[in-house]
Amino acid sequence: MSTPSPDLVICGGGIVGKACALALAQTGLDVALLGARPAAALPADNYSQRIYALNAASRQLLEQLRVWPHLPPGRVQPVRAMQIRADGAQLAFDTPPAQVEALAWIVESDAIEGALDLALRFERRVQLDPAPAARLSRPADGPGWQVQTADGRSLHAALLVGADGEHSLVRKVSGIATDTHDYMQRGVVANFACAAPHDGVAFQTFEDGGVIALLPLAPLHGQPMVSLVWSAPGALAHELLALPPDALAQRVQGHLAAMRAQHLGPLRATGAAAAWRLQRQIARSAATDALVLVGDAAHRVHPLAGQGLNLGLQDVQQLAHTLQQRAPGQAVHDARLLRRYARSRAEQVRALAIATDALARLYATHSPVPAPLRALGLHAANALPPFKALLTRYASGLPYLA
Ligand SMILES: Cc1cc2nc3c(=O)[nH]c(=O)nc-3n(C[C@H](O)[C@H](O)[C@H](O)COP(=O)(O)OP(=O)(O)OC[C@H]3O[C@@H](n4cnc5c(N)ncnc54)[C@H](O)[C@@H]3O)c2cc1C
Repeated sequence: MSTPSPDLVICGGGIVGKACALALAQTGLDVALLGARPAAALPADNYSQRIYALNAASRQLLEQLRVWPHLPPGRVQPVRAMQIRADGAQLAFDTPPAQVEALAWIVESDAIEGALDLALRFERRVQLDPAPAARLSRPADGPGWQVQTADGRSLHAALLVGADGEHSLVRKVSGIATDTHDYMQRGVVANFACAAPHDGVAFQTFEDGGVIALLPLAPLHGQPMVSLVWSAPGALAHELLALPPDALAQRVQGHLAAMRAQHLGPLRATGAAAAWRLQRQIARSAATDALVLVGDAAHRVHPLAGQGLNLGLQDVQQLAHTLQQRAPGQAVHDARLLRRYARSRAEQVRALAIATDALARLYATHSPVPAPLRALGLHAANALPPFKALLTRYASGLPYLA
């Protein structure tokens, strides 16, 4: 059975795929979104496990898409300051870029998806299709892609957008190679109630046992909360995951002093931990014949800078901008357009991959740089306000906006 052809098909209904569908529909294109499932309901008495730090560029995109106002009030926490400690030295950030209210905003994944679902409900140019793509092939008699859904339907896509994450089927059929590195670490996440307010401060410490970050969450029923992201080497990650929630809380508490965050303790676990394998995986190009990649399908980076999703949302912003700029009569799959999109994303993705990789290696257990030298570097960076302002601006994503 065949359904009418949209202008393009997006494969992947995660945050990046949903945002992409909305952004492209708002440029006047008819979009089919495959793998589009509604977000899980938010637990009333807790936070869900996946929590993201969104930067100013992501916030700006979600505002343009009229998604930001639908985020549940009381579950978005602005980050006022960030304290990074390593080898006894500290790098502190407390000044957002000009005209930006905060360094970042901490929000649950399901809250973002839920707000996107709400906005998509009013977007008549998007066909939401829960079926995943099962087979992708080039039609024998014309441009584009033939998409077969898991329930046996067939769609023609003049342009195919891969927003299908780490194991992207779209990337596989595209033949685009990736540069991949396994950090041999897992990102262990869990949420805790803390004893005192965090005042919107994010804490991070680089230690032999990995990178530990505590992100401030909006208080739940008046209770201050934090979200843990512990990038831990494999064996330690297994050990942490095997701990009962209260024992994990105690283990994290043992690191509060290193973070200068003792005032947050004692911590109390509010749910189970979860973990994700950490890899750098960068597609050598974000576009080929009638096909583009966005989000984790195009790039995965170490989460120590909390930038993976932000990069994906900036892909969306850039793709919408590029397609909107096409000349009258120029097709959405025009190779010049797609090359322009790929070129415009390459620099930021490469810069972030190099920076996060360098930091992960610098603070690895067998680091090539001795701890006193690293401490000196961190002290020096902390004493240079213009350097910190530059870092803050890059982390905001604003210099890369189309
Ligand atoms: C521990 C950890 C912490 C992180 N913290 C942050 C942070 O603070 N800030 C930040 O910006 N980033 C962060 N990230 C990165 C972030 O998680 C990812 O970059 C982001 O989730 C990628 O979203 P996506 O929509 O591209 O991919 P995904 O979330 O993987 O979504 C892909 C979607 O495609 C669907 N799909 C797969 N195959 C098909 C198919 N064949 N057909 C149709 N649909 C398909 C899947 O079901 C899924 O819904 C973190 C990552 C980790 C591991």
